[in-house]
Amino acid sequence: MKPEPSKGLVLVVEDERAISDLLRLYLSREGFGVHVALDGPSGLAAARNLHPVAIILDVGLPGMDGTDVCRQLRADNDWVPVIFCTARDDEVDRVLGLELGADDYVTKPFSPREVVARVKSVVRRASNVKSGDGPLVLRDISIDPVTRRTTVAGQPLELTATEFDLLFHLVANPGRVFSREQLLSEVWGYAAVVGTRTVDVHVAQVRAKLGEASCIRTVRGVGYSAEA
Ligand code: CA
Repeated sequence: MKPEPSKGLVLVVEDERAISDLLRLYLSREGFGVHVALDGPSGLAAARNLHPVAIILDVGLPGMDGTDVCRQLRADNDWVPVIFCTARDDEVDRVLGLELGADDYVTKPFSPREVVARVKSVVRRASNVKSGDGPLVLRDISIDPVTRRTTVAGQPLELTATEFDLLFHLVANPGRVFSREQLLSEVWGYAAVVGTRTVDVHVAQVRAKLGEASCIRTVRGVGYSAEA
């Protein structure tokens, strides 16, 4: 059997060898290259040097916290999809609350299959290029699915992969009201295992970034909609 072409390199930053070994095994079975870093500083260096397609990032790491690794990458304007591994609920709150541009998170103990499904989902979304489609325009907002660039009144707006997909999905269907469950399934691409709070957090982040240009309306008791 011919080896499948690599689906790209996934960086695993995790100091627990048992977990990183397991992730390496499952990810390579799916055709991903895998690089493991065992502490924060080497994880950050690997992210900068190896240009992974996604990063699985433990929060509690020696040398440098996972949240600091992510913050550094975002400060460098690196919007690689990041899936955080959290050990406790208070870590989930930190990851979601810090506007780090986390694309997803999993809580330990997790099933490696589930993590692989999440990786495939963020990578697929990040590379979901629809060539030939022009940018979507709604009021001052322009969203280009090919370059994945967003501008507001001509000024570039930096969005994470998930924020981009969320905004694109809403703006592509102006006026349509989506429930949180629909957005989870249609934007995140899997059943609503992470809970609808994830949707609320990402909507809040997109709104904050759009500022006065925000077009996202809360439909009370239902969900969200982009106002034309
Ligand atoms: Ca750890």
